[in-house]
Amino acid sequence: MAQEDVFKKLVSHCKEYGFVFPSSEIYDGLGAVYDYGQMGVELKNNIKKYWWDSMVLLNDNVVGIDSAIFMHPTIWKASGHVDAFNDPLIDNRDSKKRYRADVLIEDFLAKIDDKINKEVEKAHKKFGESFDEAQFRATNARVVEYQANRDTVHTRFAKALNDGNLEDLREIIVDCEIVCPISGTRNWTEVRQFNLMFATEMGSTADGALKVYLRPETAQGIFVNFLNVQKTGRMKIPFGIAQIGKAFRNEIVARQFIFRMREFEQMEMQFFVRPGEELEWFKQWKATRMRWHKALGFGDHKYRFHDHDKLAHYANAATDIEFEMPFGFKEVEGIHSRTDFDLSSHEKFSGKKVQYFDPELNKSYTPYVIETSIGVDRMFLSVMSASYQEETLEGGETRVVLNLPPALAPIKLAILPLLKKDGLPEKAREIMDELKFEFKCQYDEKDSIGKRYRRQDAIGTPFCVTVDHQTLEDGQVTIRHRDTMQQERVAIGELKEIISTKVSLKALLKSL
Ligand code: ATP
Repeated sequence: MAQEDVFKKLVSHCKEYGFVFPSSEIYDGLGAVYDYGQMGVELKNNIKKYWWDSMVLLNDNVVGIDSAIFMHPTIWKASGHVDAFNDPLIDNRDSKKRYRADVLIEDFLAKIDDKINKEVEKAHKKFGESFDEAQFRATNARVVEYQANRDTVHTRFAKALNDGNLEDLREIIVDCEIVCPISGTRNWTEVRQFNLMFATEMGSTADGALKVYLRPETAQGIFVNFLNVQKTGRMKIPFGIAQIGKAFRNEIVARQFIFRMREFEQMEMQFFVRPGEELEWFKQWKATRMRWHKALGFGDHKYRFHDHDKLAHYANAATDIEFEMPFGFKEVEGIHSRTDFDLSSHEKFSGKKVQYFDPELNKSYTPYVIETSIGVDRMFLSVMSASYQEETLEGGETRVVLNLPPALAPIKLAILPLLKKDGLPEKAREIMDELKFEFKCQYDEKDSIGKRYRRQDAIGTPFCVTVDHQTLEDGQVTIRHRDTMQQERVAIGELKEIISTKVSLKALLKSL
């Protein structure tokens, strides 16, 4: 099945099974805003817990906070967001569609990469074992030509971004003959900057209302609380502050479902270190964060680092962790070495000293910062897209199953009485009343057992337990495993142990 179709199916699956709904749907929706349904919220909470515990529980030098969404507007001056939180936009005059100029060029570069990779794959197949990829890339005329073209465009692109040169960006689009995917034409407007922050007013207008912003990232709430936390928590450098919360960006191009939203959620951790040690910590956090992703078991080949060509004005190193979504490798998390930019800037704008006294060095300084910043929604999308499977079973029957990591599954256990009579529902309820304190369970007595299994497969429930007449006699139930569909008889008293070893977050955290 084409990846595009897989993605469409995934989006409708998310809706059909209560994971994600378009916001305000009965009013025809609101662009790039989504609601999480009864299954989605459980999965999302589990993802957040996995992240939070990996930060705050496993590291005694990382603590959490929950800062307000509204903040003093000068914070966004100090952070650079008022002046520089812009995306370069370009319109196609024929389709009237708006695009991010940088994204059009990045997509163009990705297409060249695809062409090169296809050539390499073809040659690999042809030459088999004896294939020397490095030599092929260096000598194959077609690949060399593609690569030279890519390098030229890439160098121009990086320079245009670094110089903030909008005209050059437009020229690259024109020179590369990039067309609008809707109209197919090259009738482009100029490139303009567009600020992504939402603004609103606080207080009544009669008193002179204050213009405030909906935060575009959670990080600044951490920076402005740096001293509060350091002093009250008696934190010693190196230490980190973690936060999970909503962020808002008026994205120009908001397509691809929950990949790019206007209201989304971030999980950010700022790690404060001694100046000069930041690149060593950057390396460490890169490795730690990649381990966190890979521990979910979707396959290491689905992840890669993408080092930034254009460093933000505050950064001296930056990388993205990209995940292979149905629409290609895309950023899920950013790891940035932000220098002392934010704390120094807040010191300057607030007029308050924001420094740390290091008792070992016996001096004060402005700490440097390593940031790890991951979008909950993008993480959700990556988990869903890696887990969604359509399987053909023996006998030609098909099933849709979400192979979710058990620790993240919204429902851990479904309890199913074989029949709706003979005391079976009562027995099933009794088991549920015992186990609901351990795991999120679901009781289901409607339809045939086969249909009920399918419903649970579709929401990724790792275990189904069936209560039948025999259960009333011998206290045993049938437990069915989602992935293998194998069934076994076990005593009711064993359920807790069997299930918890598989679904506990602890095991996942221990594997880190
Ligand atoms: P992009 O280049 O895709 O716009 P970004 O580099 O601006 O992303 P950051 O500012 O580094 O993103 O934000 C950190 C993380 O927050 C991202 O890796 C992503 O997971 C998430 N994120 C950012 N913007 C959005 C959005 N509009 N919708 C959903 N998640 C987002």
